[in-house]
Amino acid sequence: MTNSVANTIHKLFKELHQHPELSNQEFETTKRLRSYLQQANIRILELGAKTGVIAEIGSGSPVLALRADIDALPINEQTELDYRSQNREVMHACGHDLHASVLMGAAYLLKAQEKNLQGTVRLLFQPAEENFSGALHFIDIGALNGVDAILGLHNNPNLAVNQMASCSGPFSANVDRIEITVTGIGAHAARPESGIDPIVIGAQIVSAIQTISSRTISGLDPVVVSITKFLGGNTWNVIPEKVEMEGTVRTLTPKVRAKVKQQLISIVENVAISMGAKAELRWFDGPPSVMNVAKWVALAKQVAKQTGYEVVDFKPGLGGEDFAHYLHVVPGAFINLGSQSQHALHHPKFQINLDMITPAAHYLYELATQALIDLKHNNK
Ligand SMILES: [Zn+2]
Ligand SMILES: [Zn+2]
Repeated sequence: MTNSVANTIHKLFKELHQHPELSNQEFETTKRLRSYLQQANIRILELGAKTGVIAEIGSGSPVLALRADIDALPINEQTELDYRSQNREVMHACGHDLHASVLMGAAYLLKAQEKNLQGTVRLLFQPAEENFSGALHFIDIGALNGVDAILGLHNNPNLAVNQMASCSGPFSANVDRIEITVTGIGAHAARPESGIDPIVIGAQIVSAIQTISSRTISGLDPVVVSITKFLGGNTWNVIPEKVEMEGTVRTLTPKVRAKVKQQLISIVENVAISMGAKAELRWFDGPPSVMNVAKWVALAKQVAKQTGYEVVDFKPGLGGEDFAHYLHVVPGAFINLGSQSQHALHHPKFQINLDMITPAAHYLYELATQALIDLKHNNK
């Protein structure tokens, strides 16, 4: 890679890191990315995105999409970096500044080879991944129209700078949210027999739903049901009428997701009925799991080896990733590259190892080039 491209993307990375913006508020980030694209004469597609930017290099089919997310988190940065966040309570603690810079680097390299490209590379600088709305918005405005396959990456702080990991099948979890309302009958705390206590019933429900993963789903299928909010009552001597709960369900496959949902509804309703109360469970679908296609994972690993990466084993986690929505429309793969941070993603001291930026951009460039050749060959 030329030094000038490497310098440009390091500069972009530091600028993005200093000026993080929350989901759907990435206005300055969008301006900056547009300006970097324009500097390289890369064609911007005006599809009406409120934030984020979509651009193209090359021409004709096949069309390969590359996606990077660009939003930051409501976290007060606690690093000592000279380029640390200048926006209070906002931080690039998930490395989306890195993803955008790596995609820009790949774009500059692809632009330099535009005449030799076997089709079109569409660049998706996607907003609002952290609240899981950006990918759906991009799909709505037509970002995937004409696209044959899509690839995306996320940094992984647990991997070394030269390590790459991915897997076929589920890569991330189905991330669903639940709300539960238990309605009993309020009473004097000294005379519980004259009411129906929703706190006791709510507690029974919290315990009972833990049997879903231990008793009704195979031990080989990961399931997490976490109740993260439990609200009821407002004083010491009154049994309240209602308890409200909230939580999340994480699964890897559609089958397990459906079974857990059905079990949850049944347990919540029946525990309440057995104790004379009423309970309702409201289920909100979040992003499904990223379902990687084997062929694209294989290509991503092969190119990783060719470009000097060590390919390591990957086990899917129960976190979410809205890249999943794209894979419901077109095939592709999502991969991890090592960012070697001592602190986890979303930690106020999260800090990538800068040495990973340039090789990652070069890798993504090589991957896109070879993916187009592959698509062209297989479309014949
Ligand atoms: Zn994140
Ligand atoms: Zn992220």
